[in-house]
Amino acid sequence: MSNRLPCSRCGTTRDVEVVEREEQVTIKGKEISFLAHYSRCLTCGDEFEAPGQLDANLDAAREVYAKLYEAPSPEALVALRARYNASQKAFGAILGFGELTMNSYEKGNIPDPTNRLLLRLAADPLIFKAMYEINSGKIGTTQRRRIEESEGYESAIHWEGLAGLSALLAPLQQEKIEAIARRNGRTVPVQIAAYVGTASFQDYSRLYAEARWSHEKTTPLPSAPAQPITIQGAA
Ligand SMILES: [Zn+2]
Repeated sequence: MSNRLPCSRCGTTRDVEVVEREEQVTIKGKEISFLAHYSRCLTCGDEFEAPGQLDANLDAAREVYAKLYEAPSPEALVALRARYNASQKAFGAILGFGELTMNSYEKGNIPDPTNRLLLRLAADPLIFKAMYEINSGKIGTTQRRRIEESEGYESAIHWEGLAGLSALLAPLQQEKIEAIARRNGRTVPVQIAAYVGTASFQDYSRLYAEARWSHEKTTPLPSAPAQPITIQGAA
């Protein structure tokens, strides 16, 4: 394949061809070999990386590294799937893989970067549950029941974490909790844990009241509102 690119040795645009060769680089202390691509000037023979080739060569090196050192082991994949009590076929369907894909990964084939990402995400029960809700129509009733009764799936239902909690809070409440956490030098989860630790309905009403006051800066609340306070955005 030939192409025209500026050659710095010739000082002008020349016809170039793509050449490839095995190269070694060190990534995170590990030496790896990958197939690098260069452009060769057909006039002077100089070889150089065109801008796109520079990125592609970096990506190729990183991908070799990831396959060798970051890919999930077959044992880890079997354990992940077992946590959701899913068959290979059902687990693959939920993650959007082909029918035989999980089988091949559990036999040692290396997932491509997209599927590696999906497998890592699926280790989070909340994300797995979201994937399941999208794709559960692709699997049979028996598999659905097995998955819904699994330890992994149950953990997503019973504990939805901070993401689940924030979905229940009005934006104003979230802002207030964040602001108080910042002022106290706490993370949001630690601040919420502090509320839970000292919680009473009275404290909670005060949280609402403060939230409203900070939102409507020029209109302090009456000290004892007769009506329940309505928070903008709350159900
Ligand atoms: Zn040249």
